[in-house]
Amino acid sequence: MKPKTVLLTVLGAIGLVVLPTNRPLQANPMESKSAIAPSANELLLAQEPSTDIYQQAKEELSGDFYVLYRIIERVARANGLDERPWRITIVPTYDINAFATEVNLIAMHTGIMDQLAGDASALACIVAHEMGHHVERHIALGPAEKVALIEEIEAEAQEQVEAELKDAKSDARGSAIGGAVVRGVLGGTIGRAGGRALENESRQRMNRAEERVREIVEQKEQELEERLAEDSQRREFEADRSGYMYSVQAGFEAEGCLRAMEVLARTPGAEFDTTHPATRRRIEALEELAVEHPPAKLSQKGDALISATQPLTYDLSQDGVSLRINSVRGGSTGDNLEEMFD
Ligand SMILES: [Zn+2]
Repeated sequence: MKPKTVLLTVLGAIGLVVLPTNRPLQANPMESKSAIAPSANELLLAQEPSTDIYQQAKEELSGDFYVLYRIIERVARANGLDERPWRITIVPTYDINAFATEVNLIAMHTGIMDQLAGDASALACIVAHEMGHHVERHIALGPAEKVALIEEIEAEAQEQVEAELKDAKSDARGSAIGGAVVRGVLGGTIGRAGGRALENESRQRMNRAEERVREIVEQKEQELEERLAEDSQRREFEADRSGYMYSVQAGFEAEGCLRAMEVLARTPGAEFDTTHPATRRRIEALEELAVEHPPAKLSQKGDALISATQPLTYDLSQDGVSLRINSVRGGSTGDNLEEMFD
């Protein structure tokens, strides 16, 4: 398949979107669609297919978009991840952050682009980490898994609370009956005193039960928080693994991941916050991975896949703000129809 259609006007649109600092992009580019103006269609004018899509990209795209296009294009082809389009958006705030959202959309803050400037391998590892979140379906399944976990722990708490209250009630009934028996048998002052003592005991038993219920609820809330954090950390380890595997298979340096990790480790409150595992553990996991999957072997596999494919084209996304990196089928459904049916 030959590289196709990209329009010089795309550059203008993207530059316009990305540069203004007084109008920050939303995390969700769809939200800022109307503010950004002309529709994608107005900007897309037919052009002659380029013989060198990379050269064209370099001329048309802003520096950051060019870099991200080249990285994603290469990572996708080297890993067989070119069956679906990817999208990139750049968030013009100086955060050392990147995130994955919507379907195959990768958002990069300008801060991380700046901090990793000149280090394509480190940036490729971050981008591949975000691609991993998509491939592992963390974005699609994450919220549902969270709800399921909350429901599971709520049900457990409910069960424990009910068991506690049932015990307390049967004890209380036992004490009340005991009180009546004591009064009936002994009668008089001593009997009444004995009955009161048992009633006090049953009240205390209920108070203790209430206390226990509070403890159960607190303990379960803590357990929920811990398990949510564990899930989140497990997903990050999975995405780190993808970051290494995908970027190295695409021919980037394995040390790029370590260099990216070092930058993140020195960034308080970046993506890698309390829900993320400690950087030291993440670096250890990457080192183990490099032993298990030597870089030379991975990049050889990636080279074979890249030589069997054609460069992926790009277009301004229909959302009007992100760059779409087309799948192996290209960016035009019309062309695809014509190829099939003339
Ligand atoms: Zn992540």
